[in-house]
Amino acid sequence: MKIVRTAEALREARKELKGSIGFVPTMGALHEGHLSLIRRAREENAHLIVSIFVNPTQFLEGEDLESYPRREEADSKICQLAGTDILFMPSVDQMYEADELCIGAPARRGYILEGEKRPGHFDGMLQIVMKLLNLSGATRAYFGKKDAQQLVLITQMARSYFLPCDIVPCDIVRDEKGLALSSRNAYLTDTEKERALALSRSLKRASKKVMAGELNVEAIVAEMASVLEAAVDHTEYIAIVDRDFRKLERVEIGNTIVLVAAWVGKTRLIDNIWI
Ligand code: AMP
Repeated sequence: MKIVRTAEALREARKELKGSIGFVPTMGALHEGHLSLIRRAREENAHLIVSIFVNPTQFLEGEDLESYPRREEADSKICQLAGTDILFMPSVDQMYEADELCIGAPARRGYILEGEKRPGHFDGMLQIVMKLLNLSGATRAYFGKKDAQQLVLITQMARSYFLPCDIVPCDIVRDEKGLALSSRNAYLTDTEKERALALSRSLKRASKKVMAGELNVEAIVAEMASVLEAAVDHTEYIAIVDRDFRKLERVEIGNTIVLVAAWVGKTRLIDNIWI
């Protein structure tokens, strides 16, 4: 495995790769969720590139940019064992220049839910993903449904900018109790971890209700709210939208995403389920 830290070195290293390139961009502190993307990219492509970059432009003022877990050594080992050809770990200076040309998130999809609570987050995210996709020369890039709105926006960017890269959606990986894996789970104490299970529990409740024939969004949201309120400190949103992130009044089976965002202690968590 080659570790490269500059854009130039990545371009050079990638030139030597013949055949398809699978690419998995991450912010590190790798867990089984990341690994599921990495394994799939490894299987489906001749070569595998992984990037680790805690992207400052997608963090808002007052968010956890400074405290975000950084585990370069352990992450490198994991990538190596998973069969990575090139691990890209650039500095901020490598990725950004002064007076940047910016890509903006779309006015509706980019500024509701996560985009409303974290205004500007998706602009920064799309900006870095565009750079990374171009630099990696990926044939296929792998993203988790865990960040559902992010996945939909990246798919839109690839489509509207005619990027020569397939965006591959990957299922959410959970721990044995149902908690969606996230690098931010490292912030949780044991008791907070227990309380955080309310997110996935509320989603399971929603899917159970749908399976029992309840399609009314208001009724499902009310039930989810009661599950969440009993355990979390603050529910930021519960939303039931179609795959294009338009609000639904009735669940459309095969075209629905149920999403939650909630605070447990000082940690903000998100989770969702595709129905
Ligand atoms: P991050 O390092 O949090 O930016 O995540 C990098 C990629 O891993 C993104 O495409 C995430 O959606 C994906 N990812 C993170 N957690 C999970 C999970 N629990 N299951 C599946 N994919 C995940």
